[in-house]
Amino acid sequence: MDRRTLLKTGTMAALGLGLGCAGKSQQTVPGAPPMPGGPRPRPANDLIPVDASWGKVIHTTVGLRPFRDSGFRVEPQKLDGKTVIHNYGHGGGGMSLSWGTGSLAADMALAHTSRRAAVLGSGAVGLAAARQLQRRGFDVTIYTKALPPHTTSNMSWAGWTPSSSVVTTTKRTPQWDEQFRAAATIAYRELQLLNGRDYGVTWIDSYSTTDEVPPERMRGTRAPLMPESLRTGREVLGPDEHPFPLRYAIRTSTMRIEPAIFLDATLRDFRLFGGGTVIRELSTERDLMSLAETLIVNCTGLGSRDLFRDQEMTPIKGQLTLLAPQDGVNYSTFGGLSTTSGEPGIGLHMMPRRDGIALGGTAERGEWSMDPNEEKRKNIVEGHAELYNAMRAPWRTM
Ligand SMILES: Cc1cc2nc3c(=O)[nH]c(=O)nc-3n(C[C@H](O)[C@H](O)[C@H](O)COP(=O)(O)OP(=O)(O)OC[C@H]3O[C@@H](n4cnc5c(N)ncnc54)[C@H](O)[C@@H]3O)c2cc1C
Repeated sequence: MDRRTLLKTGTMAALGLGLGCAGKSQQTVPGAPPMPGGPRPRPANDLIPVDASWGKVIHTTVGLRPFRDSGFRVEPQKLDGKTVIHNYGHGGGGMSLSWGTGSLAADMALAHTSRRAAVLGSGAVGLAAARQLQRRGFDVTIYTKALPPHTTSNMSWAGWTPSSSVVTTTKRTPQWDEQFRAAATIAYRELQLLNGRDYGVTWIDSYSTTDEVPPERMRGTRAPLMPESLRTGREVLGPDEHPFPLRYAIRTSTMRIEPAIFLDATLRDFRLFGGGTVIRELSTERDLMSLAETLIVNCTGLGSRDLFRDQEMTPIKGQLTLLAPQDGVNYSTFGGLSTTSGEPGIGLHMMPRRDGIALGGTAERGEWSMDPNEEKRKNIVEGHAELYNAMRAPWRTM
């Protein structure tokens, strides 16, 4: 496998889209014998190229994905007179998983006698956990250093990527895998229910581009983390069926979460159902003991490294460059044109949203700086410009 193939394969694997969609593929691979009487996929030649010129850039954001080597932690811990239920360490999958791990954490809370709970943190994970607690009859107060829009969750690209940078493969255990699958299954359904209801969650076509004939299934020594039921089918479009400057485009339907809308709407609901918020940073165990609640749900993300001395927590820095919104762009992409665009294991990716067109493609492990990396910013913008400039626009083919 050459570097280019690796880069693209890695990209799709990291983002959880996967080339490995056995059982859900709806079509033949171009170049392979056609399925007798099988329909060809709907062509995609009407896609409008994104204008990724520097003049369209409006902003660059930086966020630190809260990565934990052995995967997110959802479990209770006794701490003197308090019960702490941990719910942190979601890496690059927290926007996708939040409603699912929140549900697992809230179920654990039911074992506690009190129906008053403190939730620490108000990113996607804290807000969803707080709502799941409210649904189970808890009176909830959120204690947080910062509210949206000042959370990592707000800096997220936020596609449906529950298995992206969520665990180190060699650290997976059967118990953790089972918890992951339970959380992802709940989250997938919860997000579907939010669709089209002013929560910033919508379905969108996404295209992964490649020059290689897409294989039928991902080869690996371990069982795939993501259950097949949590993906939609894929369609492989051949060279004449899509406008991208690579041979194949793999189309899937995926969920898009627009962070600003999603987080504000969840916070609004939390308040509507009687939840309170207190802006407060907790730094020590003594701070925890000073809380009135005996039940605490810890959703502090990377903050758990210091607050609960979890040295497994490490940042994976990611940045997004936003372009001004562009009418008619209603699809997302994964992958670039050249071998230098995007990083192995993550690659370039684009998502149109109401606050702009988000261009991503960086993952700097162990990097704590909140300053944009200029070189990576340039690669992301110019890598996307290269892809879209080489795309056949509908008006060029007419
Ligand atoms: C560039 C980028 C792209 C991403 N793309 C995706 C994607 O496509 N799909 C996806 O699912 N995920 C994606 N993610 C990952 C996702 O953003 C995270 O997994 C998610 O935001 C984690 O949510 P959280 O609530 O745990 O953390 P945060 O959003 O960081 O929230 C933590 C909360 O805890 C509070 N806090 C922390 N420490 C303390 C303390 N000591 N005392 C009190 N309060 C405290 C903070 O103020 C904050 O309110 C991406 C992330 C980045 C950066």
